[in-house]
This record gives sequence, structure tokens and C-alpha cells, in this order.
Amino acid sequence: MSFSLPTLPYAPTALEPVISEKTLSFHYGKHHQTYVDNLNKMVPGTAFENASLEEIIKTAPAGPIFNNAAQIWNHTFYFESFTAPGKAVPALPEIEAQYGSLEAFKEEFNKGAIGLFGSGWLWLVKDAEGKLQIVAEPNAGNPMTKGLKPILTFDVWEHAYYLDYQNRRAEHVGKIWDIINWEVILKRF
Ligand code: MN
Repeated sequence: MSFSLPTLPYAPTALEPVISEKTLSFHYGKHHQTYVDNLNKMVPGTAFENASLEEIIKTAPAGPIFNNAAQIWNHTFYFESFTAPGKAVPALPEIEAQYGSLEAFKEEFNKGAIGLFGSGWLWLVKDAEGKLQIVAEPNAGNPMTKGLKPILTFDVWEHAYYLDYQNRRAEHVGKIWDIINWEVILKRF
């Protein structure tokens, strides 16, 4: 199977000032593209030649094929979660039921994103019982490997924020909420 870079559902400047056009051009145009190019070079002649990204993520051993497939999936899921800043936030019944309020949930999620050591992804997931969990995954980690259903993710690799925020991960994480497309997130529940 040949993999391709998905089209972004917004203009390159749409996420400013939270994520600049420059960051997006490197993060989407270079990093995300490179994972796609790498995987396309790696899978021919392997057991994963005809596998989907999800199949690779769920079955590949730790290593370059898993890493590149998961990074493609994770970035696509991440970039699809955004919209231009200033959109109204709808009711979020499952988050409100479990965390008390959106503000309380954000506080806990921010803590996880800021506390994740090194490179990785912070996820909101739903488990088999339908309960929400906040899960930190290092490097290319993806919670589907543990049977969890992804709802939301923040990329906390330095390449996601360094051009705009340098070392200030907490400031970046705090601002991402302004560009979350809650209509997309709601559909994932
Ligand atoms: Mn990234």
C-alpha cells in the first residue's frame, strides 16, 4: 500500500497566532511528509506491504516501520483536530460527566502534556468500558496498541512548538485549546 500526506482542512495561516504558518510548514510540510516518504520506502517486500496504517500500528514490532506508520497516523489525527481560533465550544457531555468541567479536564490534560519527559504524545482515550483516560505515550506511541480509542492528542515533540515558543512548552500547550475543533472531537466519542 502506498501512503500519502493528507490535505489539511484549513489554510496554512489559519491557526495563527497559536501555530504559525512557519511551524506548520515545517511540521506538516517536512516532518509529516518525511514519515510518509520513509514508510513508503520501508514497506515494500515486508509483511506490511499491503497493510493499512492501523494494521501496522496494532501488529508491527517496535522499530522503524512501527515508528513511521504511527507518526503518520498520529500527525494526521493531530492536524485534523484544529480549526481557526475563536470558535464557540459546544457542550461536551462525556468530558463534563467524568472531569466535572471542561476547565478541570484541561488542567489535568495540560499537567500531563507538560510533565511528559522528552518527545511524545498526550492522549485523551476511551477504554473498553467507555471510560475516558489521559494517557502519555513516548516517541511515536499510539494508544491503539493497548486497545484504547483515541479522542484527542497533543504533540509535545519540540518540533511542534520550538519555532514559536522555544522552550516554553507550557505556554504552547495552554494556547492549543483555542484552535481545537470540538465538532471533530465530538464525532470521535
Ligand atoms: Mn510532530
